[in-house]
Amino acid sequence: MPDIEQSDPGPSTPLRTIGVVGAGVMGVGVAQNLAQTGHRVVLLDLSDHVLAAARAEIERNLRFHGFFTKQKGGPPPAEVLERITFTTGYAPFADADFVVENATEKVAVKQGIYPVLDEVCPPHACFAANTSCISITRIGGWTRRPDRVLGMHFMNPVPLKPVVETIRGFYTSQGTIDTALRFLGQMGKEGIVVNDLPGFVSNRVLMLTINEAIWEVMDGVASAEDIDRIFVTCFGHKMGPIATGDLIGLDTILYSLEVLYDSYNDPKFRPCPLLRKMVDAGLHGRKTGRGFFDYGVPAAGASAAA
Ligand code: NAD
Repeated sequence: MPDIEQSDPGPSTPLRTIGVVGAGVMGVGVAQNLAQTGHRVVLLDLSDHVLAAARAEIERNLRFHGFFTKQKGGPPPAEVLERITFTTGYAPFADADFVVENATEKVAVKQGIYPVLDEVCPPHACFAANTSCISITRIGGWTRRPDRVLGMHFMNPVPLKPVVETIRGFYTSQGTIDTALRFLGQMGKEGIVVNDLPGFVSNRVLMLTINEAIWEVMDGVASAEDIDRIFVTCFGHKMGPIATGDLIGLDTILYSLEVLYDSYNDPKFRPCPLLRKMVDAGLHGRKTGRGFFDYGVPAAGASAAA
């Protein structure tokens, strides 16, 4: 058992400045939601190019997609954007009260990030991993504060989804869970607390469903359109599994299945070869403009659970 300092963050811990790691589909949504609800945000990614695209996307969402802001009469776009500091360096994380990590769903990528956060962030800061499938207990082990590490599986698009799957790792303290729920409340969201096993509740089921639907396309059982139509019209789902995969990002689906496959050593999680081929071809879904369906231009998601 690691030497863990068991002091809970406590109800008086301020949650004003929030570090957000990763400015892709989810990082952009989390940063926007946080800035819209009055937080100061430090948004970090690897390059200025990615950060410029993130800034442009947030600006577009605020100006043109009223449904993304949800808050009629909320702060003007310029004021929201002004609250976000875009950075490729960790120095501003020295002021972070709480961190949400949204980097690529690969163990090696996330493993490189947490020791740096641990070094730079103040001792009171909790780290929330917005991971689809990676064990929170494993992530906590990459820090010297596993009691302050938890999972926050946000849904996509973040500003529109009111509930967050909140994951308690083996060492996550009750104080950290309480702080996380308070943090989500500040964002206008509610957390449902679940225990830690890879994929948690949602993605242990959802990734299998999407993968199996892709096997059906590959096996010629039906077209992607017809598979989705069956889920939408027969089951009343808002969106079929193939369109949901396109919305999440087919690369993220592939990486999540690889994590589940490795974590459980269970062949039921083996990624469909067609999924891998699509990812190799750069067809990652909405974010690249094309996946199983054609979106013309890279676009933020409409509305679906993910
Ligand atoms: P994405 O590919 O759109 O974005 C990932 C971002 O991480 C990229 O901008 C990339 O440049 C950045 N990145 C990579 N390595 C980094 C590093 N070392 N430091 C900082 N940034 C780095 O992926 P996404 O869909 O935003 O997913 C991010 C996380 O959220 C993943 O863990 C994913 O499983 C999870 N998630 C995704 C969804 C979804 O619907 N897409 C939903 C819930 C959770």
